[in-house]
Amino acid sequence: MSKIVGIDLGTTNSLVATVDSGIPYVIADASGRRLTPSVVHLGAAGQPVVGFEANRARALHPRETVYSVKRFMGRRGADIPREDMLVTYPVQGTGAGPVTIPVRGREWTPEEVSAEILRKLKTDAETALGVEVTRAVITVPAYFNDAQRHATIRAGELAGLKVERIINEPTAAALAYGLNKLQDQSKIAVFDLGGGTFDLTLLELNQGVFQVLSTHGNTRLGGDDLDTRLTEFLAVKIHEAGGPDLRRFGAAFRGGEAEAAPTPEDLQRIARVREAAEKSKISLSLETLTDVTLPFLTPQFSFRYQLSRSELEALTRDILLRTRTHCLQALADAKVDASQLDQVVLVGGQTRMPLVRALVTEWFGCREFEESRGDVRLGEDYHRPSGPLLNTGVNPDEAVALGAAIQAEILSGGMTNLLLLDVTPLSLGIETFGGLMNVIIPRNSTIPVKAGEVFTTAVDRQRSMLIHVLQGERERARDNWSLGRFDLDFEEAPKGVPRVGVQFEIDANGILHVLARDLKTGHQRIVDMKSAVDVSDADVQKMIEESVEHAFDDLKARQWIEAKVRAGETLAATRKGLAEHGAELDEAYRRRVETAMQAVEAALETEESRTRVGDAARLKGANQGLDEATLQLAELMMDRAMEEMLRKQGMIQ
Ligand code: AMP
Repeated sequence: MSKIVGIDLGTTNSLVATVDSGIPYVIADASGRRLTPSVVHLGAAGQPVVGFEANRARALHPRETVYSVKRFMGRRGADIPREDMLVTYPVQGTGAGPVTIPVRGREWTPEEVSAEILRKLKTDAETALGVEVTRAVITVPAYFNDAQRHATIRAGELAGLKVERIINEPTAAALAYGLNKLQDQSKIAVFDLGGGTFDLTLLELNQGVFQVLSTHGNTRLGGDDLDTRLTEFLAVKIHEAGGPDLRRFGAAFRGGEAEAAPTPEDLQRIARVREAAEKSKISLSLETLTDVTLPFLTPQFSFRYQLSRSELEALTRDILLRTRTHCLQALADAKVDASQLDQVVLVGGQTRMPLVRALVTEWFGCREFEESRGDVRLGEDYHRPSGPLLNTGVNPDEAVALGAAIQAEILSGGMTNLLLLDVTPLSLGIETFGGLMNVIIPRNSTIPVKAGEVFTTAVDRQRSMLIHVLQGERERARDNWSLGRFDLDFEEAPKGVPRVGVQFEIDANGILHVLARDLKTGHQRIVDMKSAVDVSDADVQKMIEESVEHAFDDLKARQWIEAKVRAGETLAATRKGLAEHGAELDEAYRRRVETAMQAVEAALETEESRTRVGDAARLKGANQGLDEATLQLAELMMDRAMEEMLRKQGMIQ
C-alpha cells in the first residue's frame, strides 16, 4: 500500500510531512526549503509556477499571481466579504455561484489553484521519498464548513491524491504536541497566528479524541499585517533618508490597488522593502536589534536602518491586541475559564514573536514550559501549580503538518506500536487478598513509568508471598489477564508483620519489570514480564467494554470480597481472644460476642457458589456488630499483651 503523507494546506504557506521510524518530519523540496508559499503564478507559457518563484513573480505580475486562495475554497460569491475580494488578481463570483479566477482567458476555480500547490507538494514528497505518493491527510481550519472541506478534498483529487482524511488544524497541532496523551477531559487552547489568519480553538480530549468546544478568529489577521505595518514605516524612513517615495503606494502594500499607478520598478522596490520588513521582523524574534539593508533601491540610493525589537513591538502591538477579543469570545462560547485550561499551544509562524508569547502568557495566566521539547510526561503524576502551560515545544509553523503526518501514519497502521508504546493500554497490578485486583499502574499512564506499593500477609506464619501480575480493568483477579506469577520468600512471621514492597516499572520498550522486596531483609526478586503494551486494539477494546458491562457486578464482588477478608480476620482474632481469655469474661458478655460471631458466619453463608458473591451489605453490618461487641475483649487482650511485655522486661512480677 502506498505511503500516506500529511499536508498543511495553509493560507500563506503549505507543508508536506511524513513519519519515518516513528519520527514525524517535514519534507524539504529539492532546494532544502520546508515551507512552500501558497502562491501560484499563472504565467503566459507552460505550467503554473508554485511557491517561492511564484511569490517573487507576485510583485511584477500581480494580476496573474494567485495567493491566499484558501479564502475562496468552497465559497459562493455572495458569502465572500468584500475585503476578501481585495486581491491583486481578478476574482469573479456573485450570488450562489462559485468563485472563479479569470486569468489569461481561462477561468480557474479555487480548487484548481489549490491543486497546483498540492501537486508541487506531492512531487516534492515523491522526490524525497523515492516512491509514488497518492494518498494524503489534509488539514483545514476548525471553522471550515462542509462545502469548504469538500472543496479541499476535490483539490486533492485534482492533484492526484486520494484524501484519506480531512482533519482540523488545531487537532493536528495538538497531535503533534502529543497532547492526545493527556488525561481525559483535558482542555487545550490552540492559538494559531499564521501569515494571513488567526484563530483560537478550544479542544477537549475525550477518550483519545479531540472535540472542538469552540473556535473564533479572523481570517484577515496575521503576520502579513505586521509586515505591511513595517513596510509602511520603512517607506517613511526611506523617504526621510532621501530615497524614492513609496508611501503613495500604501494600498499596494496591503494587496489592494494603489492610488497612484506604480511602475514595474516601483512594484519591484515595494516587493524588496516588504521582503526586508518580513526578514527583519523574523530576526527580531531572536535578536533585539537588526539591520535593514536595501542596497541600490535606486541606482543612486541605498538604504540602511537599525531597527530594534521595541520599535517593532510599538509599531505592531495594536494589531496583535486584536487577537484578544477572539480569545475571550472562544472562551465565552465554550463557557470555559482560562484557568480551567491545561495547556495553551502556539501554532503559526507569527507566534515565534516574543511579544505574542508575552501577551498570550498574560491573557491566559500561563506559566512557561521549561523544556524545549514536547511535554511527554504529563501522565498521572502531572500536577499543575497554577494556570495553563504555555507549550511551545514544537516548531509552530510545522506543528499542523507534523500532526497531519502522525494522523496519516495512524491511518496506514504504522503508528499503532508507537502510540501503544507511549501509554499503558490497560491497568497493571497484582492479586491481593480474596482474589482482588490491586492496580499499581493505571491504564493510560505515560511510559516509561514506575510505581509501587507495600503489601503484607493475611495469614499467620506465612513464609512466602505469591506475586501474581495482572493486566486489565476488572475488579476480580480471575477476570483479568495473568501476565505471570512468582514467589518471594521471607522469614516466617505473624500475619500483617512482613512488609513486601512491590514495584512495577515499564521501560521505554514497554517491558514490565516487577520487583518484589522483603523490606526487613532487603531480599528481593526482579522478574521481567512480557511487553505490557503489546496488546491488540481489539483486545483492549474488549477488556474495556467488559469492564463497563460488568461494572456493577464487579463492584458488588469487590465489596463482598473486602467484607469477607475483613470477616475472616475478625473471626480469627475473636476466636483466639475467646480461647485465651474466655474464662475472664462474664457469661452475658461472652454470649453477646458469640451471637455477633454467629451473625458474621451466617452472613458469610450467603455466598453463592456460582458467582462466589454474597450479601455484602449484610456482611458489612455483621462485621460492624462484631467489632462493637469485641471492643471489651480487644481491650482485655491489649492489657494482657502489655502485661506480658512488661513482665518480660522485668518491670512487673
Ligand atoms: P504560517 O502561516 O504559520 O506559515 O506563518 C507565517 C507567518 O509567520 C509569516 O507572517 C511569517 O513572517 C511569520 N513568521 C515566521 N517565522 C517567524 C519568526 N521567527 N518570528 C516572527 N514571525 C515569523
